Amino acid sequence: MKIIEKQSGVAFEISEGDFLKIIDISGQQVSDLVCFNATDTREKFSAGKTMDFEESILISTHNYLWSNRGNKMMKIIEDLNGRNDVLLAPCSQQTFEIMYNINKPHPSCYNNLAINLKEFNIEPDEIPTAFNAFMNVQFDTNGKLKVLPPQSQKSDFIILQAMMDLVIGMTACSAPDSNGGSFKEIGYEIIKKTPHETN
Ligand SMILES: [Zn+2]
Repeated sequence: MKIIEKQSGVAFEISEGDFLKIIDISGQQVSDLVCFNATDTREKFSAGKTMDFEESILISTHNYLWSNRGNKMMKIIEDLNGRNDVLLAPCSQQTFEIMYNINKPHPSCYNNLAINLKEFNIEPDEIPTAFNAFMNVQFDTNGKLKVLPPQSQKSDFIILQAMMDLVIGMTACSAPDSNGGSFKEIGYEIIKKTPHETN
């Protein structure tokens, strides 16, 4: 298992058919995931298309992550916790200034994605709203949102399968409210598709 240190991020490539396992090592830790078509990174994860085509704002087992071009990017094969978010954008410096009244530099998912995706020539402005693994956003019938501590327990994981060759950006989120008030590591594994398996 590879480790994303607390309040940091990574970027890497995976091939079509391969599996990505995201592990909440300690419990109650969010990981933002964004993905891009490795052969043309202008094609990227679209939370809007995903909610549209999956007909839900709650995305879990058997749902697909769709692209801005309306193509399947990843399929969620297994999700032990089951509560994830696709409504809220990655936390950024402005998140801490506007919502936490912190006026000095603070680690953020947006910055950690930007730093790591640079290697793949992906500009900060290209970063979309993420698939927020383990993030517990609740809403009432008036649309009022609340960010509550994740419901994920120690060692809960999500397995996604790549539907195309992808560049992935992932973080261990830096926003206190999203993570039950403390920052933890996130684990991940890339599991290669075995030759006899089909998509
Ligand atoms: Zn974050």
